[in-house]
Amino acid sequence: MDNKQRPPKEKGGELPNEVRIELAKTAGFCFGVDRAVRMTTDLLRAGKKVATLGPLIHNPQVIRLLEEQGAKAVSCPAEVELDSVAVIRSHGVAPQVRGELEQRGVEIVDATCPYVQKIHKIAQNSAREGKILLLAGDAGHPEVQGIAGQAPGVTFIFSSAEELGDILEGIEQARPIVAVAQTTFAVDEWAECVRLIKKVCTNSEVFDTICKATQARQKETEELSRRSDLVIVIGGNGSSNTRKLYHVAAAHTRAVQVEDAVQLKGIDLGGVCAIGITAGASTPSSAIEEVRTTMSDQIHEGEKSFEEMLDDSMKPVYAGQVVKGVVVAVSTNDITVDIGTKHTGIVKLEEWTDDPAVRSAEEVAKRDEEVDLVVVKVNDQDGIVQLSKRQMEAKKGAIEVEKAAEEGTVMDGYVTESNKGGLVANVKGVKVFIPASQATARRGEDYTALVRQHVKLKIKEYSPRRTIGSIREVLAEEQNAVREKFWNEVEVGKKYIGTVKSLTNYGAFVDIGGVDGLVHISELSWSRIKHPSEVVQVGDTIEVYVKDLDMENHKVSLGYKKQEDNPWEKLKTEYPIGSVFTAPVVSITQFGAFVRILPGIDGLVHISEISHERVEKVADALKVGDEVEVKLLDVDFDRKRISLSMKALLPEPEKDQPRTGEDEVVASASEEETTVAPEITAEMEAEPEEEQQPAPAEEEPAGEPDEAQAPEEAPQPVEDEVPGAEAEEGTEEETES
Ligand code: SF4
Repeated sequence: MDNKQRPPKEKGGELPNEVRIELAKTAGFCFGVDRAVRMTTDLLRAGKKVATLGPLIHNPQVIRLLEEQGAKAVSCPAEVELDSVAVIRSHGVAPQVRGELEQRGVEIVDATCPYVQKIHKIAQNSAREGKILLLAGDAGHPEVQGIAGQAPGVTFIFSSAEELGDILEGIEQARPIVAVAQTTFAVDEWAECVRLIKKVCTNSEVFDTICKATQARQKETEELSRRSDLVIVIGGNGSSNTRKLYHVAAAHTRAVQVEDAVQLKGIDLGGVCAIGITAGASTPSSAIEEVRTTMSDQIHEGEKSFEEMLDDSMKPVYAGQVVKGVVVAVSTNDITVDIGTKHTGIVKLEEWTDDPAVRSAEEVAKRDEEVDLVVVKVNDQDGIVQLSKRQMEAKKGAIEVEKAAEEGTVMDGYVTESNKGGLVANVKGVKVFIPASQATARRGEDYTALVRQHVKLKIKEYSPRRTIGSIREVLAEEQNAVREKFWNEVEVGKKYIGTVKSLTNYGAFVDIGGVDGLVHISELSWSRIKHPSEVVQVGDTIEVYVKDLDMENHKVSLGYKKQEDNPWEKLKTEYPIGSVFTAPVVSITQFGAFVRILPGIDGLVHISEISHERVEKVADALKVGDEVEVKLLDVDFDRKRISLSMKALLPEPEKDQPRTGEDEVVASASEEETTVAPEITAEMEAEPEEEQQPAPAEEEPAGEPDEAQAPEEAPQPVEDEVPGAEAEEGTEEETES
């Protein structure tokens, strides 16, 4: 299609020095078409058999590509094979068509454009309410047929204001009317129709259903045509909106409609200073870019004819050839490249990258990017060359991977999938299998979380058919390096922030940066604890310091409890000898009662210090939980023993009382005890009498599993000292004396 409304400004086919090419911003796939193509390609990628009800879009190149991927266009529901998914294209269908598919039990994917769906609803409502539907559009167009099918029997279709006039003359003026337009109807013509409806009909509802994308495209085309000497409209011959764009442009300048760049051949560019390019809603960006590039080449190779230029590009292309390409267009599913020949180079998204996370080519390819590619397939009839970047990368990568296998180099890989046996990673385009045993630092760990992650690995074995890698080896080397650094820098007293890795009965293993050290249970708290979990939990971050080092066997003893928290220090400053305070009885023994002064420190009130009266049995005078007032008599910091007295706070009994014989015996016994002062002792964390048996010592392992480093000799727990036993000895001594 080439209108000749405006002759060339310069005769003789000569191009002016400066030729401007302007591409309309609105050119190309609209939302509805893009959505339909995307839905269809998603089905194809998922391995579904696809049948589209009519060609999915009005563009032969795209249809060809979809066919190559397995999508078949059928003309009616009866042609859809039962194992296929039927795709309803963006135009939509009448309810009867959908009903036929449903009756046959065919799976349906509805790609009807949401804008068209909206018109369907208006039509359905209008029919339900008994109104007449006036539908502006092309009666033969599938979209119009689909809309008319929603309101059968009450719909009038017209393609111009003139036709509408005839219809309005024949219908009852007062009857309620609903008017809608095909989404791609000409904006100006619709405005005329609306004026007429408003003038003639007294009871009408008019819906502005022309798609905004269409309106914008037509408006921009009109503006473009006013400032261009030539407008090239790209789009399929069957595309209604492309035809409208052509008519809009042709109203103001010379316009040409082409389906692809090959049809540019023979166009006279003589005297053309400004070329406008626009495209219909079904035109892929690759086709637009191809036309733009060809026009640009033609202009810049000024003296050459278009035929000569095409001849220049007739270089042979064959499968397996390595070529350089420049990206000229990127759409959702493919990338169009210029490989310097007459062919259109197409790289399908899956041939650009094997990353399943990439959903659109626009995420990974950029216009004007130069890439090395391998020719996969040549179709001289269509002028299309299928290319692969992935295969090119694999070719280059194979050399690097083979070298890395020989030299033991660490490579970067991207994990693409996991299976029962291990992981598959892409390393420089080469598929590398990582067995499960080599996927993590330790055998048996979950490796599936590494999918879609970048990893470092070593190539253990390379062959063009099978390449094996190991992540574990890299992790082990990293771990060794960390450990070496640690042992070079560690010293007694140095502080670390670590993570509690595991707990045992005798202590906690703490990771202090690649090396595990042991905090013995006695180093966790100043108080007696029965298990490390009373102080720390696995996963806790704690500050520790190095207490002892065994450099030879690589074992680290750590300390956790801090000097400033030492209750004996607090006792020193806050409890001077002679101080009086109230404290609870925490245990009872034969020789006295232990009273809790501070957490971790108990003092002994010897049986003789309970009262001035003779106490036969401690339990007769006191019980656990009693709050008693005591006086601090003495502290032996070396032996950690504290003597307390209740008696010292009680008034002395009167001595001049006449005594009975019995009283005298008791008094003399008390006197004797008072004279010979017992050695009153207390010990940190004394146990009640019944608990004074030492706990069976836990067997400490010679070495920690999982490469943890335990100190060879850990300090013994406090259970070794049985306070009650020593105190009892003291009592016996006293009795003897
Ligand atoms: Fe939908 Fe508008 Fe595209 Fe038609 S032109 S498919 S209505 S977006």
